[in-house]
Amino acid sequence: MQVTRRQFMKLCGVGLGSSSLAVMGFSPTELQASVRQFKLARTRETRSTCPYCSVSCGVILYTRGSGAKNAKAALVHVEGDPDNPVNRGTLCPKGAGLMDMINSDSRLRQPQYRAPGSDQWQTLSWDEAITRIARLMKDDRDANFMEFNDQGQRVNRWNTTGFLASSAAANESGYLTAKTARAYGMTAVDTQARI
Ligand code: SF4
Repeated sequence: MQVTRRQFMKLCGVGLGSSSLAVMGFSPTELQASVRQFKLARTRETRSTCPYCSVSCGVILYTRGSGAKNAKAALVHVEGDPDNPVNRGTLCPKGAGLMDMINSDSRLRQPQYRAPGSDQWQTLSWDEAITRIARLMKDDRDANFMEFNDQGQRVNRWNTTGFLASSAAANESGYLTAKTARAYGMTAVDTQARI
């Protein structure tokens, strides 16, 4: 192998540095691990689910903030959840880049509404959106709820509106979502995790 004088000096420097650290009782691997631990110091761990695809890998979100009442915590790190049986700590490149999506300036943070026939989106508040959704659901259910089928059997179906549940929901909230949708009589119930 051809080594230039500059490369030779660099290699000697790295070798000397590593061996000096080892002599002094430092291991580069331990040193790197301690820096990583420091990165996550004083962060809060929140378990969640990657929203990108149907695999629904478990993630741990690390946020740091003062904890003061009006302070907003900042997301500083995302990694796979080793306790999650789906992915056991691993993430694909898409999930590993989740932090960029969460912190992106272009991420939608408010409901958007496009009126029929319009080519413009308008921003709604969460209260406006939820009130409008509730109103439309009530009107549609009142107009289309089917108590009996053609044979006179009670079916209690509401076939004209569907429900798309979140893939980031835990078992308990997923169970409650399904029970609520079925209690309305909905038959079209699915989860974003299957899309
Ligand atoms: S980490 Fe990758 S495989 Fe897992 S849910 Fe996210 S996008 Fe899907």
